[in-house]
Formats: sequence, structure tokens, C-alpha cells
Amino acid sequence: MEVKGLCSICGKPAVLRTCILCGAQVCPEHFDPNTSTCSNCRAGRKM
Ligand SMILES: [Zn+2]
Ligand SMILES: [Zn+2]
Repeated sequence: MEVKGLCSICGKPAVLRTCILCGAQVCPEHFDPNTSTCSNCRAGRKM
């Protein structure tokens, strides 16, 4: 599912992905497709 909006981390308009952990909608720059999480969640996890 593609949603266009503002990244919750950097605030830039982009096609957003939803983090499976916190539900934040973030741009591809702040999203890791391998874990389907945002960089905020990745910072707190060792993956
Ligand atoms: Zn971003
Ligand atoms: Zn997250």
C-alpha cells in the first residue's frame, strides 16, 4: 500500500511506508524494507 504524505522522521513529502513496530509513516530513506521498520525503531533494536 502506497501512501503519500510527510515522513514522521524528517518531515519531507514522500511515498510513505508504515513501520510494523510503531506504525509511523516514514519515507524510504527512513524505512528498512528488510525489517519493515523505521529508523527510529531500528535504533533501539539490534538487527
Ligand atoms: Zn524521512
Ligand atoms: Zn518504527
